[in-house]
Amino acid sequence: MGRVLIIGAGGVGRVVAHKCAQVPDTFTDIMLASRSISKCERIRDEIKEKTSRDIEVAKVDADNVPELSSLIKGFKPDAVVNVALPYQDLTIMDACLEAGANYIDTANYEPPEVAHFEYSWQWAYRDRFKQKGLMAVLGCGFDPGVSNVFCAYAQKHLFDEINYVDILDCNAGSHGHPFATNFNPEINIREVTQNVRHWEGGRWVETPPILEQGSVHFCFDYPIVGKKESYLLYHEELESLAMNIKGLKRIRFWMTFSENYLTHLRVLQNVGMTRIDGVDYDGKKIIPIKFLKALLPDPAKLGENYTGKTVIGNVMTGMKGGERKSVYIYNVCDHAQAYKEVGAQAISYTTGVPAMICAMLVINGTWKNHGVFNVEQLDPDPFMDALNKHGLKWNQEEFRGELPG
Ligand code: NDP
Repeated sequence: MGRVLIIGAGGVGRVVAHKCAQVPDTFTDIMLASRSISKCERIRDEIKEKTSRDIEVAKVDADNVPELSSLIKGFKPDAVVNVALPYQDLTIMDACLEAGANYIDTANYEPPEVAHFEYSWQWAYRDRFKQKGLMAVLGCGFDPGVSNVFCAYAQKHLFDEINYVDILDCNAGSHGHPFATNFNPEINIREVTQNVRHWEGGRWVETPPILEQGSVHFCFDYPIVGKKESYLLYHEELESLAMNIKGLKRIRFWMTFSENYLTHLRVLQNVGMTRIDGVDYDGKKIIPIKFLKALLPDPAKLGENYTGKTVIGNVMTGMKGGERKSVYIYNVCDHAQAYKEVGAQAISYTTGVPAMICAMLVINGTWKNHGVFNVEQLDPDPFMDALNKHGLKWNQEEFRGELPG
């Protein structure tokens, strides 16, 4: 018997709900709750059609702790999967503590008024989760999430120590729109326009944002999809991996962006459309990035005409038995196949499947602990097995390619 409450009925929430419904042995009872009940109902009806399973739906304001707690107390889930927005991480954690449920998310907390994310706000909950005998697992999508699991697996089985990690995230798909983001536009644009950092020699090294002169990029030859320009970007898993991987000398994160994407984003930024502060318009305060989100395609609806693949993985270099070696572990996910299976594009799919796997491991007791954890602190083996079984097969090969020094 396992009860799961999924909060957020966007692109990722849809995948988590579908994938949980596909594992009835673990997830005997599923509830999907979000701000707009109509989105939950649509997903519920699709799941009924595909799997004949009934899931419950509810309306909830995830900024409101008493409302969340009473939902959790009523449904009594073993785990709450937060796939709303990073703004809701702390309120949902507070409600889990109050109502007594384990907590899982895919993105770390970010205050709405500052485009800045870091783990400190959520790590501050460690003692409270421990005291209540509850477990919180942070950042369990693909990256962060599977990228952390790949590091933990390599640390456990492939290396005596890992010295260099490069996480390479490539979306070689095409959605047919002039400009769209693959997950929530507000969160996505805040992330990719910030200052870039990577960790090297025990300290953070800053480089210019991807839109600016001097941004660091190179052409990486990805399996299956070939050469793509890949940009150095700050990503949240760097913060925890830099602490938890032994012997690490450098960790970097790279993401592919097309010239078309960068040109659109540069123009939007230059005219002020990515601003997160309030602007007076016609006697009202509007926040340009929220208005822009309303104009852009909904990432949850991009799937229908999406073609191509994502290739996301880690190149890890270190020592084993006195010899230096480099290993590349990666997944290839096809947008059209993801859409056929669960009605979502591959970015939502690669995020939702790991979130479901995490809930499965927490609910069936494979991952059992008290406190707040990043994914690499937990046993990677059952997770790696589950990836192969639940739609995200991974490949491991010796790395013979080139990376910037
Ligand atoms: P969407 O914007 O498509 O979905 C977010 C959902 O949360 C929407 O249904 C929205 O409701 C709901 N929501 C927002 N605010 C509230 C609230 N206050 N109360 C209740 N529900 C609310 O985003 P995605 O599905 O694309 O992304 C979901 C999460 O996944 C994000 O945190 C994102 O950062 C993360 N992510 C992580 C990745 C990883 O690899 N780790 C990769 C991609 C995404 P409404 O429909 O009414 O707006």
